[in-house]
Amino acid sequence: MDCLFCKIIDGEIPSTKVYEDEYVYAFKDIAPIAPMHILIIPKAHIASANDINAENSSLVAKVFEAAGKIAKEQGCESYRIINNCGDDAGQTVKHLHFHLLGGVKMGWRPESLGRTE
Ligand code: AMP
Ligand code: ZN
Repeated sequence: MDCLFCKIIDGEIPSTKVYEDEYVYAFKDIAPIAPMHILIIPKAHIASANDINAENSSLVAKVFEAAGKIAKEQGCESYRIINNCGDDAGQTVKHLHFHLLGGVKMGWRPESLGRTE
């Protein structure tokens, strides 16, 4: 499949892995907007949050099970998880992913992380 994140999972495209289990892969975002900026993805290809359904939703739980562990390993007890769903929300890669952000005091607005495009 011609999907950037599927290729990262397969090792076809390099990434800085921070966590992996049977269901989930996590790696450093190539253009970080916070001191900790990790992408957590299900290994199965799900295009976006709109494609979460009764059959695959347990994979989303796996992402969240991993998130706290990863953040703690990275030294962040406090963190934000963001999912962009669809073009207007800024989803550029059509493989469901969750941004795990931390290491900085954040305002509640996404713009406060400096991403306005
Ligand atoms: P989104 O804009 O929500 O679709 O997030 C996609 C994220 O993937 C962006 O934050 C990019 O910086 C990140 N990204 C794109 N290509 C790579 C890559 N090869 N390795 C790591 N992160 C990437
Ligand atoms: Zn994919």
